[in-house]
Order: sequence, then C-alpha cells, then structure tokens
Amino acid sequence: MKIILLGPPGAGKGTIAKLLTEYDGSVQISTGDILRAAVAAGTELGKQAEAAMSAGNLVTDELIMGIMEQRLQEGDCKNGYLLDGFPRTIPQAEALQVLLEKMGEKLDAVLELDIARDIIIGRLTTRRTCAQCGEIYNVISKPPKVEGVCDVCGSNEIVQRDDETEEAISNRLEVYQDQTAPLSDFYKNTGLLTSVMSSDKETVMTALGPKIG
Ligand code: ADP
Ligand code: ZN
Repeated sequence: MKIILLGPPGAGKGTIAKLLTEYDGSVQISTGDILRAAVAAGTELGKQAEAAMSAGNLVTDELIMGIMEQRLQEGDCKNGYLLDGFPRTIPQAEALQVLLEKMGEKLDAVLELDIARDIIIGRLTTRRTCAQCGEIYNVISKPPKVEGVCDVCGSNEIVQRDDETEEAISNRLEVYQDQTAPLSDFYKNTGLLTSVMSSDKETVMTALGPKIG
C-alpha cells in the first residue's frame, strides 16, 4: 500500500507506520528519522537541517524534496510505502503529486490522525528516544525494561529530544496548524482522505479497509 500518514507531532504516526509495515511489507519512510540520522552523522544535509529542527521549525521544501525524490526510487519502495512526516506543506504535497505522476504511481490513502491537543502534549513531554538506535519510549506508558538502558541496542543514551522541550513542542504544534493542517482539505478534494480519532490498530484497519482492500 502507498499511504500518507497525516497528523500532529505525537499523534502516533510512527506507531501506525510500524503496524502497517507488518501488515503487507510496505516500508516506513520517516523524513524526521532521515534528517536526525543526517544530523547525527554530521553530513552536509544534517548541517543544513540542524538549526531548524532543534527549534521545531520545518526545514526547506527543497531539502525535503531532494531527499524524497531519491528515497521513493529505491528498490524497497516496490512493495509500497508509508510516508510518516511527509508531505508537511502544500508545496511538498504538490511536488509529490508531480513526482508520483512521473513515476507512474498512485496513492491508496491519506490517513489523518485527529488527536486532541492535551493528549499530544502529554505524550510528547513524556517521550524519550534512544540516541543510538531511535527506539521510542515513554516514561509513563513504555519505560525501558531496565531503567536508562535501551531494550533494543543496550545503549544507555535514552534522551529527551531537543525538540521535545515544552517550548519547542508548542512551536511544533503551531507550525503544524499553520503549515500542515491545510493538507487535510487538499487531500479531501482528491477523495483520498480518511480520518480517525484514535490510533489503535482496529480503528486504523477499519478506516483503511475500503481503501486497501
Ligand atoms: P514529529 O514528531 O513532529 O512528527 P518528525 O520526526 O517527523 O517530527 O520531524 C522532526 C523535525 O524534522 C521537524 O520538526 C522538522 O524540523 C523536520 N522535518 C521532518 N519532516 C519534514 C518535512 N516533510 N518538511 C520539513 N521539515 C521536516
Ligand atoms: Zn537503542
């Protein structure tokens, strides 16, 4: 399946992407993960993205389209993909349409996660990430088995992301309202949009069923 996951930070896009990859072997493509890896590796791309990211602002559309144009042509995209964190602006959505047309591909659905703001803020301020492998924890609902040690890779660098301070979070939510929320109407007009108010498996599969068969 070829799906866009749309929703504010902390809505559960990453979790749903993982769930759907297990369903049919589609790959999860997270622009946030790609950018964080570039920052960690100190590449040219990382240097260009770093300042905007830690403030919770968007990186430029040009930078993102450069990444995505390459990424969508890699072999593992043949079985489908779940776009997590992209597109994030109307110009990105328009550029994606042009790109897909050029590649002769069509999206199956745009799944919008419509999650209440207080739930999101609660989730984000308690979120922790393994700086080594990217595994996500939550100090309340999903702590690592051994405090401070990553279950997956054993690293003891379980950290709060720079952009998950209270200040950066409120900025990210504002950026979402201004720049990304308009995509909901954009995709409603294409007939691809499905909205859910909860990110549990059953709700998501029921909503997507008619689109993915
Ligand atoms: P979130 O948890 O807010 O969904 P992501 O992990 O998707 O965050 O992205 C982290 C940061 O990476 C964003 O705040 C932004 O700076 C940058 N970023 C990721 N995807 C995009 C995109 N499609 N366009 C612009 N900036 C992006
Ligand atoms: Zn780890």
